[in-house]
Amino acid sequence: MQNKKIETVCIQGGYTPGNGDPRQIPIIQSTTFKYDTSEDMGKLFDLEASGYFYSRLQNPTCDMVAAKLAQLEGGTAGMLTSSGQAANFFALFNIVGCGDHIVASSAIYGGTYNLIAVTMAKMGVEATFVSPDCTREELDAAFRPNTKALFGETIANPALAVLDIELFAEAAHAHGVPLIVDNTFATPVNCRPIEWGADIVTHSTTKYLDGHGSCIGGAIIDGGHFDWMAHRDKFPGLTTPDESYHGITYAEKFGKEGAFITKCTAQLMRDFGSMQSPQSAFILNLGIESLPVRMKRHCENAMAVAEFLSKSEKVAYVTYCSLPGDKYHDRALKYLPDGSCGVVSFGVKGGRKAAETFMKNLKVIAIETHVADARSCCLNPASSTHRQMNEEELKAAGVPAELIRVSVGLENADDLIADIAGALETI
Ligand code: PLP
Repeated sequence: MQNKKIETVCIQGGYTPGNGDPRQIPIIQSTTFKYDTSEDMGKLFDLEASGYFYSRLQNPTCDMVAAKLAQLEGGTAGMLTSSGQAANFFALFNIVGCGDHIVASSAIYGGTYNLIAVTMAKMGVEATFVSPDCTREELDAAFRPNTKALFGETIANPALAVLDIELFAEAAHAHGVPLIVDNTFATPVNCRPIEWGADIVTHSTTKYLDGHGSCIGGAIIDGGHFDWMAHRDKFPGLTTPDESYHGITYAEKFGKEGAFITKCTAQLMRDFGSMQSPQSAFILNLGIESLPVRMKRHCENAMAVAEFLSKSEKVAYVTYCSLPGDKYHDRALKYLPDGSCGVVSFGVKGGRKAAETFMKNLKVIAIETHVADARSCCLNPASSTHRQMNEEELKAAGVPAELIRVSVGLENADDLIADIAGALETI
């Protein structure tokens, strides 16, 4: 699939059937694989030969979809995980351990923030959070000698801040660490962070990549550029022998292109076992086939909704980076010139009560804890995910009481706008 356009890779990447083979990727629904000799199997365990022995670590269906995602992101290797949470945890834990430190953008998904700030802290990993709008000096000041990774989201959920990927990549590399970017909201259709300097890309495939609200999943893709051996002391897990894997030194044996994903598969999948099911990978692949068509429509519909909202007297503010005048519009023009995502947030005049009344009166757009689905949905964090917070705490968390996040789906934009207009009339 080299030099093919993204629409072609979305359909044909990752799997090239031979003569008489199934046209669609086969679902290899098998926990294990059969070998003729112990020697054959031994070679797999020694990572001397490639092949499959147990679907907790690797499965052919998942690998076909991971290979497609690696091609889409411009990476050299990829793997699927059971969820987006698992993808971000594995991407970080593959190079970060007890006594290490992470720098992360503060504008990231709440679950990832919790993973880094609370759960990884219990594992002895410290973190410093920086504003996505920080200067290079402020970013530099967050690094410590034991910093092992910089982390951010292309378009942050739910803040919808756009990451300055080039700035973050330059800072990461100046401090000898990789930049890990969660590209869930933009998808490779709208942004390919590796082309802007990111080293590792992660996804919650649960969102646009599946796009139909069918399967929880995640993915990790390695850009294959980061020179682990040049920073040998920082990344001993990749640059010194792995005694739990027959003394293999991943960066030596698999090079820049393959070391990260091989270690993550051989070590973390072996020990934590968070592989995606082959059935889910098959469904995910169906979603990826139509991704460019869907993303275009999500973005057109979201723009129409954002424009309508920005003209309504009942709306106090609208946040959508593709909308001229948005705080992140300039960055969106640079990193997301063809469109951003389908998620728009806005505040109704009249606070929490008005937000609740508005949502109660929607007929097409459903109230859900989800985004990036073919079906439009919305959420008022103050009365749901952030319900325990008072007005002041909500403001400090960047989710004021009146804020509503709408994930604009693939329905007809006129119907969505009519639904919103009708509900705004009731407040
Ligand atoms: N990353 C982002 C940007 C997300 O929005 C989410 C979930 O909403 C996740 C990661 C976690 O993904 P999952 O729910 O698939 O575990």
